[in-house]
Amino acid sequence: MTYDLVIVGGGIHGAGIAQSAAAAGYSVLVLEKTAIAHGTSSKSSKLIHGGLRYLESGQIKLVFECLSERSLLLEIAPQLVRLESFFIPIYKHTRRRPWEIRAGLSLYAALGKFKPAARFEQVPDSEWSKLDGISLENLQAVYTYKDGATDDAALTQAVMESAKSLGAELKMPAEFLSAVPGEDVNEIAYSFNGTTHSCKARLLVNAAGPWANAILDKVTPIPAKREFDLVAGTHIVIDEPAPKGMYYVEAPQDQRAVFVMPWQGKTMVGTTETVYVGDPSKVAPLPEEETYLCQVASHYFPKFKDVTREELVESFSGLRVLPHASGKAFSRPRETTFHVDKKRAPKIATIYGGKLTAYRITSEKFIAKFAAALPRRKRKAHTHKLHLKPSLS
Ligand SMILES: Cc1cc2nc3c(=O)[nH]c(=O)nc-3n(C[C@H](O)[C@H](O)[C@H](O)COP(=O)(O)OP(=O)(O)OC[C@H]3O[C@@H](n4cnc5c(N)ncnc54)[C@H](O)[C@@H]3O)c2cc1C
Repeated sequence: MTYDLVIVGGGIHGAGIAQSAAAAGYSVLVLEKTAIAHGTSSKSSKLIHGGLRYLESGQIKLVFECLSERSLLLEIAPQLVRLESFFIPIYKHTRRRPWEIRAGLSLYAALGKFKPAARFEQVPDSEWSKLDGISLENLQAVYTYKDGATDDAALTQAVMESAKSLGAELKMPAEFLSAVPGEDVNEIAYSFNGTTHSCKARLLVNAAGPWANAILDKVTPIPAKREFDLVAGTHIVIDEPAPKGMYYVEAPQDQRAVFVMPWQGKTMVGTTETVYVGDPSKVAPLPEEETYLCQVASHYFPKFKDVTREELVESFSGLRVLPHASGKAFSRPRETTFHVDKKRAPKIATIYGGKLTAYRITSEKFIAKFAAALPRRKRKAHTHKLHLKPSLS
């Protein structure tokens, strides 16, 4: 069988590209070796946001794009994406001063086109005692604004269901084994149900996230790869009722931004940034990361003061794919890059990096970029008009 696109990876990018491609009328096969959203797409901070903190590193275009996508997802996926109240407490010792937070929030509101969901306010002192037991000692100001939250795995599942409803095929558990690019198509081998299968693809899409370069190693001859760093981010879940809002705090240890937020009725805290070397399948929270997050939570919420890593309900780690560079992971660009095996008539396209929030626009750009390498097809739908629903399974 010859497909227009064979996509490796059933994370948010694999699902998003499958949906955009199927909507554009292409034939699509997705190969996922374990389960939908098995990789990073179930281990994110679960925010559908512009990323207020990316303003600090000047990533204005990314923030604008993500805020536009947030608006759209609130409209087309109301059962999956909701607006939450975020609170930023500023203490005497907080590095980012109130004027800096106000400036950041004003720019965030402007990039969100000053819609009601983009506005911010200062919480009056008289209301501070209602903020989920946050420490009031040396508290100077609290700002509140709105941003989006989701269940990342459920969103990925819904996008994949939408792709399937447009004709995309999904094989799972199916592991990509090899590819040999030819004149017109790639010859692809994958394992499914314990046996090796083959198919052809006009374009092989490598959406394997942290495994992206391991996929390229299985292509003969091995194409050029992008160097990247894997940066692990750990979240912990504390056995305490969910806070009513999302708290955006500054870690006292190193001034990084950390979220304390509701997740499945409990309190989730994240994340860390630890450079990771090794097999992406083996990433796991480190004891020191769990302790760091317990300390951040107890610093700001006296009710967590006795929480230790041994008592956590859960902790999990995901891997960011960031451009290779020295220095702090925090300030590295979060933009997505598309990489091809060759400039003219590419046969293999790899997607590196990216945000859950921007998956749809990223996938649309991806399909537009590679349309010239594919036959003309009759469009079936437009992704900005397709409603997404949680799947029943
Ligand atoms: C800690 C952390 C927090 C984040 N928080 C946010 C956030 O709040 N909001 C936001 O917008 N973004 C966030 N992000 C970014 C976002 O989560 C990722 O960009 C996104 O999930 C990456 O998805 P992906 O599809 O590229 O990769 P993945 O989700 O990792 O998917 C890759 C898939 O490929 C499969 N695969 C690998 N090898 C093979 C093979 N040989 N054959 C078949 N399948 C294979 C894997 O099983 C996996 O399912 C966060 C990222 C991290 C790490």
